[in-house]
Amino acid sequence: MNRQPSLYLVPTPIGNLEDMTLRAIRVLKEVDFILSEDTRQTGILLKHFEIRNKLVSHHQFNEHKSLDVVINRLKSGEVAALVSDAGTPGISDPGFLLVRACLKEGLDVESLPGPTAFIPALVNSGLPCDSFLFVGFLPHKKGRQTKLKEITASPYTLVFYESPYRLSKLIAQLIEHTGPDRQASVSRELTKLYEETIRGTLHELSVHFFEKEVKGEIVVVVEGKR
Ligand code: SAM
Repeated sequence: MNRQPSLYLVPTPIGNLEDMTLRAIRVLKEVDFILSEDTRQTGILLKHFEIRNKLVSHHQFNEHKSLDVVINRLKSGEVAALVSDAGTPGISDPGFLLVRACLKEGLDVESLPGPTAFIPALVNSGLPCDSFLFVGFLPHKKGRQTKLKEITASPYTLVFYESPYRLSKLIAQLIEHTGPDRQASVSRELTKLYEETIRGTLHELSVHFFEKEVKGEIVVVVEGKR
């Protein structure tokens, strides 16, 4: 028997609003309320798609606190959708805690397919995408070197999220762990006006980005260990 889920995870565009799916729009219209990482940002999206619904703030700084309240509402029969600022909730964004709490309470969860930054970056890279390791953001300080050591030993293509300010540092640290010759790519501003993907060895990328002011959002993809 098909039960209606209590929680939908709804991906939203990572730049280009044309990437919003028809189902995402319908679900956001139909649920009882929308949990949003940034209600101002989501408000703009809802207005664009003429979705009138109630927004409830749910972000990394209140997600532990708001969990009980949300779970009680879902247990009483309400249906919610979770959206993040951009892309797929749960992917380097809040989502996991709520999904886990729902499942623990026997509440059904359904994640809609849709926009996320790492898939187009991985496919654009020209590196093998049959097996890959999604790293997301590395820890800034504690544990960074250990994690880098661990993941660079993997034979699978590596996918990182990184801030433009730390891009050169990440490339330099990758070279320390892997040598300069692995193939890699940097995808910037995916789906937006100034989208670009730069490909080359880690050495070539380090030269390209050396002391350059990089702007926008970035995904770094690196060849696995040969
Ligand atoms: N939930 C999102 C997803 O599904 O991709 C990721 C959110 S995470 C907080 C934000 C990071 O995702 C950015 O720092 C960047 O690494 C990556 N990202 C998001 N949008 C992007 C874009 N348009 N182009 C390149 N990278 C992007």
